[in-house]
Amino acid sequence: MKITDRMFGRTRDGRNVVLYTLTGAGGVEVSVMTYGATLVSLKTLDQSGTPGEVTLGFDSLEPYLDVHPYFGATIGRVANRIAGGRFTLDGREYRLALNEEGRTHLHGGNVGFDKALWGAEISENSVVLSYLSPDGEEGYPGTLEVKAIYALTNQEELTFEYLARTDRATPVNLTNHTYWNFAGDGTILDHELQMSCSRYLPVDANLIPTGEIQEVSREPAMDFRSTRRIGERIGEVPGGYDHCYLIDPAGESGPAPVLRVRDPKTGRGMQMWSTQPGVQLYTGNFLDGIRGRDGTRYHRHTGFSAETQAFPNAVNAPHFSSCVLRPGETYHHVTRLRFSVE
Ligand code: BGC
Repeated sequence: MKITDRMFGRTRDGRNVVLYTLTGAGGVEVSVMTYGATLVSLKTLDQSGTPGEVTLGFDSLEPYLDVHPYFGATIGRVANRIAGGRFTLDGREYRLALNEEGRTHLHGGNVGFDKALWGAEISENSVVLSYLSPDGEEGYPGTLEVKAIYALTNQEELTFEYLARTDRATPVNLTNHTYWNFAGDGTILDHELQMSCSRYLPVDANLIPTGEIQEVSREPAMDFRSTRRIGERIGEVPGGYDHCYLIDPAGESGPAPVLRVRDPKTGRGMQMWSTQPGVQLYTGNFLDGIRGRDGTRYHRHTGFSAETQAFPNAVNAPHFSSCVLRPGETYHHVTRLRFSVE
């Protein structure tokens, strides 16, 4: 296992952005940068032992500085949507940026954690990124001290770990927004997916959960308990998959199994475990031809993301488990990925 670093570029106000590359003995190579604590690239070996890219992203820093579909970014202070960009906490109302067509607050607002420059240090097999989110940033209460840790083990495992502490009560929901494509090109519709999730959250026209918790057994197109192609019934889901699934309790402490995915053409895939209660399955429905790595155009369904997190809009839904962090508490999230070729 080795870690190297290099300058990746400069932010528009002249600050240096560093790119770290972690290379494992098993052939997994992952690059992360200090801008947005973003996963920029991840390569795994195919059946012939050749490394290939399995994520969507850009070659250089410049396009990451513009608005883009959150390729690989760390999302915060609150991932996913908050209805009307407002919530009430301890009797006080807070208003957040309505950065999604003026209707909803998405992924932390106009300048979320994906647009922050994080500090970084290397520790054994990991890169530890840190960010101090000031009181009032994007409308959120309290100063939040955040760490996002990318660790690679020699067993082809990558861990995303998040820690946060606050000096005032605030909602916190951190995730990673990598888009995966284990085929290396084309769409992800042939990827075979299995999710350890028997329930999901139906959404309204603004993609905000209605509050209902639905059994997937009642809606076969939503049911990935047994392995099947992502594209098999996607036509029955208006707009494509963009839903939070409830991760079934594992009955043990530590990260619970979330999903397994595999591309049948290359045999490449991954397994995911997480300590979080939910996972947003998003099938890249809004990708609109944006030009990515090597000039490749990314279209609808070129990639999918599986964002482990607390339930969307939990801060406005009293029957969802709380995402509020209070002084003296530590937010701790671990998501583990294991890559394979079979
Ligand atoms: C959301 C999508 C959104 C995308 C932004 C995903 O987490 O679920 O609705 O369009 O992020 O790129």
